[in-house]
Amino acid sequence: MNFYTTVMGSGAAVPTLMRHCSGQVVNVNGYRLLLDCGEGTQQQMRACRQKLQSLQLVCISHLHGDHFFGLPGLLATLHLCGRTQPLTVIAPQGVRLALDTMMALSSTQLDYELCVIELSHSDKRQVFTSPRCTVSAFPLWHSVPAYGYLIEEQPRGRSRPRCMAYCCDTGYHEALAGYVQGVDLLCIESTFADDMQAVADEKRHLTASQAASVARQAGVGALLLTHFSARYRDTEVFERQASAIFPNTMLAADGLVCPVNYSEPCL
Ligand SMILES: [Zn+2]
Ligand SMILES: [Zn+2]
Repeated sequence: MNFYTTVMGSGAAVPTLMRHCSGQVVNVNGYRLLLDCGEGTQQQMRACRQKLQSLQLVCISHLHGDHFFGLPGLLATLHLCGRTQPLTVIAPQGVRLALDTMMALSSTQLDYELCVIELSHSDKRQVFTSPRCTVSAFPLWHSVPAYGYLIEEQPRGRSRPRCMAYCCDTGYHEALAGYVQGVDLLCIESTFADDMQAVADEKRHLTASQAASVARQAGVGALLLTHFSARYRDTEVFERQASAIFPNTMLAADGLVCPVNYSEPCL
């Protein structure tokens, strides 16, 4: 059985020719969920041969446009392509008003049931469960309310369940490592290289070294950096800076498929 994430977009703030805005399709043993939905995500799903109608859940980290502006369009496309299966959207408080307003102003009446779960809690808690996986949400440190997600497969046989975490967008906070302790794959933002530490602090984003420090403190199996600022044409600097702190580091790229493998903690 397979557990992997496919990167739709790995850039921060604005789409470029090299990188689309945030979005990842996670496959947990056949169950498909979307993490974030920046502008262009539905086109990227087609480009990456991801079946739009197979999505069962959408988790939005926060309502900044580069993580959210693709969602109204995706929901409308699912409707226009004949969806009848319900779809669940999990996002910070305010998403219901935003979607209702978009749908009303565009006279879009969805033919499928849209279940919206709004988050406003300040701890880590389970927010969704299905026969294939459970999803927990925990607060991040950003300029607007933002949540990280923990996706854990349901226990199968004698194997322990594999788990991945997604943290985007966030500044550094010492509690972060506790939320993602021991996950097999940590996908976390790394908007800036280390020379932009002051800007990262001001805008509540992470540098490469800070992201790697979270991975090391949490004892995760593998680290996947994403959400790179468009100012970096060459992202090699992120790999160099992060892998000096956490060796098992990978850089996200649009279209990359990254497995969530069993791992031993490597502190
Ligand atoms: Zn962002
Ligand atoms: Zn943001």
